[in-house]
Amino acid sequence: MTKTYTPSRPIWCAGCGDFGVLEALVTALEELEVPPHNRMIIAGIGCSGSLQNNLPCFGYHAPHGRVLPTATGAKLANPKLTVVGVGGDGDGYAIGAGHLVHALKRNPGVTYIVMNNGTYGLTKGQASPTSSTGYENNIEEDLEPIMLGLSIPGSTFLARGYSGQPEQLLRLTLAALRHTAAGRGMSYLEVLSPCVTYNDTYREWRTSVYDIDSDAGYDPNNRAAAFSRMAELREQKRLPLGLIFQEKRSALETLALNHDFAEPALQDITDPRLFTAYREAKQSFMK
Ligand code: SF4
Repeated sequence: MTKTYTPSRPIWCAGCGDFGVLEALVTALEELEVPPHNRMIIAGIGCSGSLQNNLPCFGYHAPHGRVLPTATGAKLANPKLTVVGVGGDGDGYAIGAGHLVHALKRNPGVTYIVMNNGTYGLTKGQASPTSSTGYENNIEEDLEPIMLGLSIPGSTFLARGYSGQPEQLLRLTLAALRHTAAGRGMSYLEVLSPCVTYNDTYREWRTSVYDIDSDAGYDPNNRAAAFSRMAELREQKRLPLGLIFQEKRSALETLALNHDFAEPALQDITDPRLFTAYREAKQSFMK
């Protein structure tokens, strides 16, 4: 693969927050020594979805909103892969919102990075689920994805970084990848990633972010306390950054139901039981 596929240069606008996410992800994968042939990046539709073209990896551009079911399938097929889903707030929180809820509930061993810029940048700046009230005549309240994640009992890793704070973003990216590598399931990392062309929030976010990692009284292992603190900070119009919540549970792939055919991509394809299972599945489908 490394001989036939050379990563392309990003095509994002100068100053786009997505550059920071790419830098953090590349650095983290190298620091953890994940070789290119073990990286599977599943990307969503939107400006952020071109990220998978810019680093050495196996990549797949999923249909709109379908990053998480595709990533879950890839991980179940081959649990040895480091599977990372990347996308934007439009892809993940609008058309993909149902999949986000169920992926958090299932807890597959995938890292999901959402580049949240509060707009649909690729289609020239319409209001997205995380746009502020008033942006492009938006009359709705913005969604709070981290609180959504906290409300789902199966979630095991929730964090938020900011492209404007690269050191913390790298730390959180490493923590997210380590969480899934340890067999604890899905790590969900939202990154505040400004769209300088249609919704330049650098100035606003510089003053509204709040570093929860530096808050000595905050306990990221207590779901109820985390939810209450998030609600409090939202009232104060602050945006918490850092490791918001983490819990030790087993990943979906470690609880595979069909042990005969676990890890299908790693099976010996000459095993006659596979032919029998395929014929049975085909027959039941044709009925
Ligand atoms: Fe980034 Fe916005 Fe440009 Fe898209 S339109 S590349 S999100 S700055």
